[in-house]
Amino acid sequence: MPEKDYTYYDFTISLCTKCLKRVDAKIIFENEQVFMVKRCPEHGMEKVLIATDIQYYKNTRNYNKPSEAPLKTNTNTHYGCPYDCGLCQDHEQHSCLTVIEITDRCNLTCPTCYAMSSPHYGRHRTVEEVEAMLDTIVANEGTPDVVQLSGGEPTLHPDFFRILDIAKTKPIRHLMVNTNGIRIANDEGFAERLATYMPDFELYLQFDSFKSEALIQLRGKDLTDTRKKALEKLNALNLSTTLVVTLQQGLNDDEVGEIIDFALKQKCVRGVTFQPVQVAGRNEDFDPAKHRITLTDVRRKILEQSPVFQPNDIVPVPCNPDALAMGYALKLGGEVFPLTRYIDPSILLNSARNTIVYEQDENLHEQVIRIFSTGVSVDAVTEDMQSLLCCLPQIQAPGLSYDNLFRIIIMRFIDAYDFDVRAIKKSCVHIVHKDGRIIPFETMNLFYRDEKEVYLKKLINS
Ligand code: SF4
Repeated sequence: MPEKDYTYYDFTISLCTKCLKRVDAKIIFENEQVFMVKRCPEHGMEKVLIATDIQYYKNTRNYNKPSEAPLKTNTNTHYGCPYDCGLCQDHEQHSCLTVIEITDRCNLTCPTCYAMSSPHYGRHRTVEEVEAMLDTIVANEGTPDVVQLSGGEPTLHPDFFRILDIAKTKPIRHLMVNTNGIRIANDEGFAERLATYMPDFELYLQFDSFKSEALIQLRGKDLTDTRKKALEKLNALNLSTTLVVTLQQGLNDDEVGEIIDFALKQKCVRGVTFQPVQVAGRNEDFDPAKHRITLTDVRRKILEQSPVFQPNDIVPVPCNPDALAMGYALKLGGEVFPLTRYIDPSILLNSARNTIVYEQDENLHEQVIRIFSTGVSVDAVTEDMQSLLCCLPQIQAPGLSYDNLFRIIIMRFIDAYDFDVRAIKKSCVHIVHKDGRIIPFETMNLFYRDEKEVYLKKLINS
């Protein structure tokens, strides 16, 4: 019989990238790569590259952990995923990290911005609105793991510090501020005031490239000096900071190793998060066929460009293994010790509390899963990591503190191209909508922002 030139692996529901209607999709393996093949009755066939490493892609299924629900959901399941966000009862993961956009405004107009922010776009939320959003998160989560104030540029909000004060009164385990660093670099005393919110406080600092042309492409201007000044201040204060790299194929994907190396030398930096561009919102001069980058590609580039990490150091994260990969390392006495190779959560999830390392303490199972579930915050994992290290004779790390931990995350936000309904149900990074719903980051940017929701209503009523 004639053989097809691919292997059929799976079937799912995706979206047509033109009309965003739900369409059937096949997952196939072809030429050592993973593709999604889908067909819209109106717009025809699409074939999208979704992974460049078949073994890693297949292995992500071994990392699924039991689903976790929030304490309450906010919508009914009616039209079918992803048209019921949310969170609807059909979602399979609570909010590991919840974003509150306290303003639509920004002091930049980045050519790449999922929120379409600019100096004149939208408005600041009132303090009352922000507090109501914080209370929504608390009602859903009880004690939310991580809440991130974002925007726009949140530091522009005229009541920014009042909002931080209010957020600190809520039972939030870790509070983050997502910032482009301009006010930290330029405003006297701003970083010092931020430092008063430590501990359990962290900055999520935009840090895309060392190349002027890449910064201009992504941010509209060369922010090299701004980043340098901001980091000097944050290092002086040792204010916990994650560097956030928006990655675009062919633009800054050759810099991942250099950025990790740089980050490891910064006193205040606890890790680097690589976020491939999501095709949503403003994507100027972005050709999805040329510029999209898959999670497996980012992982491969890290392994090729950084001497620190080997393949078993960067693994899928159990709460959302399709979209998140993570690796931990310890910084000790000027040296870096990758750690994930000793605590691969799939081993625990798939059998076995009977390996040499883990049999010493049944609680380690819980600890490892917690480390990888709340990995977006270094502070959240330190206690678990300390317990874990007691059982890892390979690493001597007495007196471990926040400063010793370093974390690499690859956070691939699904867009209409690689949308997979199986994976979206496990999204664990969510945004509070102005009206009190809590919506997965991915679907918020595709369907639930401003005029997009008008289109969604037409779509589900058609
Ligand atoms: S993404 Fe989650 S919240 Fe949204 S419709 Fe699907 S299951 Fe419901």
